[in-house]
Amino acid sequence: MNFSSLGLSDPILKAIAKQGYDTPTPIQAQAIPVVLEGQDLMAAAQTGTGKTAAFTLPILEILSNGPQVSTNQVRALVLTPTRELAAQVNASVETYGEYLPLRSAVVFGGVKINPQMMKLRRGTDVLVATPGRLLDLYQQNAVKFSELSLLVLDEADRMLDMGFIHDIRKILSFLPRKRQNLLFSATFSNDIRTLAKSMVHNPVEVSVSPPNTTVNLVKQSLIPVDKSRKSALLTHLIVENNWSQVLVFSRTKHGADRLTRHLAGHRIKAAAIHGNKSQGARTKALAEFKQNKIQVLVATDIAARGLDIDQLPHVVNFDLPNVPEDYVHRIGRTGRAGATGEAVSLVCADEFKQLADIEFLIKQLLPREYADDFMPVHELPESSLDRRPSKPKKPKAPRPGHKDGQRSGENAQGHRANAAKPRAQNRGPGGNSNKPQHDRRKTIGNARSFSRKA
Ligand code: AMP
Repeated sequence: MNFSSLGLSDPILKAIAKQGYDTPTPIQAQAIPVVLEGQDLMAAAQTGTGKTAAFTLPILEILSNGPQVSTNQVRALVLTPTRELAAQVNASVETYGEYLPLRSAVVFGGVKINPQMMKLRRGTDVLVATPGRLLDLYQQNAVKFSELSLLVLDEADRMLDMGFIHDIRKILSFLPRKRQNLLFSATFSNDIRTLAKSMVHNPVEVSVSPPNTTVNLVKQSLIPVDKSRKSALLTHLIVENNWSQVLVFSRTKHGADRLTRHLAGHRIKAAAIHGNKSQGARTKALAEFKQNKIQVLVATDIAARGLDIDQLPHVVNFDLPNVPEDYVHRIGRTGRAGATGEAVSLVCADEFKQLADIEFLIKQLLPREYADDFMPVHELPESSLDRRPSKPKKPKAPRPGHKDGQRSGENAQGHRANAAKPRAQNRGPGGNSNKPQHDRRKTIGNARSFSRKA
């Protein structure tokens, strides 16, 4: 399949060809015809699947055939949870709309409102916005919606996680009732479905990756390590493996700053992006990271949401996230659009619960690596996918031939005989039937100081 068979016209095909894309990604192949037909859409697609073009391309096609936009009006509105994502979506609109006479704009908080008001005055075909700033602009009469015919909610799950539900409902109440709605979300939780009910009408549902599964192209592993040695281990990994572009996740803003200072102290160029950083600092850090001027970007979950960094080779979870779904979002930063990537988690004993939740969610045990000079003093317990309580059931009365009332399949403690199986499988290559095993030394680079636990 190619893009011209999807019903897109020449100026858009030309812009796509300029990007070097020849084949639509699965979400594009499914979503573009639906949107061009004018239907509402609910799409389950993670970042990295090509979802931005999946809604941007048909929107541009539809708008290019319609009337000119009037003063302060907007014809298509794209709502995103973060400033970074808003900027990236707008960049895509500009890229794919290069050969069309359409106007786009992006508005988000944290920067002056006046230039945004000026820009909106002429009317905007595609407006990309974060909810809070859009409401401010609406309340100041800088934006009007009576010509609006298209609405996109991008990363709807994250919008709800970030508490935007009231803002979204308010915005929906200002929009014309007759409009086409597109809702994109990594997962379709009950909350999303409730929101969808009040937003989309008879939607076509498309899905490209089942919810809560990790991107197949990512090689995942974990290194057990004491909390106090994580910074040293990360430095060691970066230096020994010559990692040139690493995205590191920290659970807290302070942790991100502390780690950035530690890396800088070891002459590794690093910058942190999180909610306490100004928009300017965040944009600068991201730009420098993309240009390879910064080797390590340390980010909190919210700041990293939606970052589009092509073919990012390494993601490190310096801390495991509290919300297991964030693990899936985090590792989605690597192995994107056909490239392979590695995601390494540095896990201390305190994080066992988070680890167990993640492994349960992704339905696989993360292969463990051990770094020779960083063997943990506080051992990380072995995990298991089996969450059934291992408490012995009430023993039945002894039957002849069954010693001490032991039932078949149970050991002397009454535990199921195979309860330890995943643990044993988890230790050696090829042993874990839950997941194809990689050569673990290769998984995290060629550093000599790694060994598998015997
Ligand atoms: P997204 O999921 O929208 O964040 O897109 C992920 C990445 O895939 C972006 O860097 C896009 O430039 C790239 N991309 C989008 N569509 C295609 C395509 N059809 N072929 C190759 N790369 C694509």
